[in-house]
Amino acid sequence: MSEKKNLWFDMDGVMTIYDYDLYVPKKAGETPRFLQPRSHVFASLAENEALMKAFDLLYKKYRGSEEVSVNVLTSIPVGLLQAEHTLDKYQWCLDHIPDFSAEDFYCVSVPKHDAVIDFLWPLTKNEILVDDYPRNLANWTKRGGTAVKCVNGINSYSDLYPCIDTRWEAEKIVETLEALLKTI
Ligand SMILES: [Mg+2]
Repeated sequence: MSEKKNLWFDMDGVMTIYDYDLYVPKKAGETPRFLQPRSHVFASLAENEALMKAFDLLYKKYRGSEEVSVNVLTSIPVGLLQAEHTLDKYQWCLDHIPDFSAEDFYCVSVPKHDAVIDFLWPLTKNEILVDDYPRNLANWTKRGGTAVKCVNGINSYSDLYPCIDTRWEAEKIVETLEALLKTI
């Protein structure tokens, strides 16, 4: 039997709709909203509906599977708000993913590739990151992982990675990811 394949889904811009205004201060020198204590911005972000439908289909299908696992891998900044951000993101998952297990939730304050390498196991092609951020994708593949670019209407398609698009039907997203699982 082949080795287990692990899908890692990014939250911001993949599972959730990227909200540019959270990250950019209204005026120069102001703290952006996501860094304001008790703003709880990550708990109530809108979901990318088709992407989440695809996630749910995969999550349900592979629950308890020896071949594939489906996980959330999200990163937050180091600092005072780590607990608030972690709890808000976890709550979001509970609110949006039926029967979500805490064991499938990874919220880290180190680069995503380091999070896997330092705390889990070596990064191989069997680790598949679904992310919208080019730097995460580049670092992940440089260390040996497989990356899928999530195009979301803000970023653009890339020739470097297989792509999925949040504007596709959920079934097409699932088909694309499952086809990839078969080829690696
Ligand atoms: Mg992202």
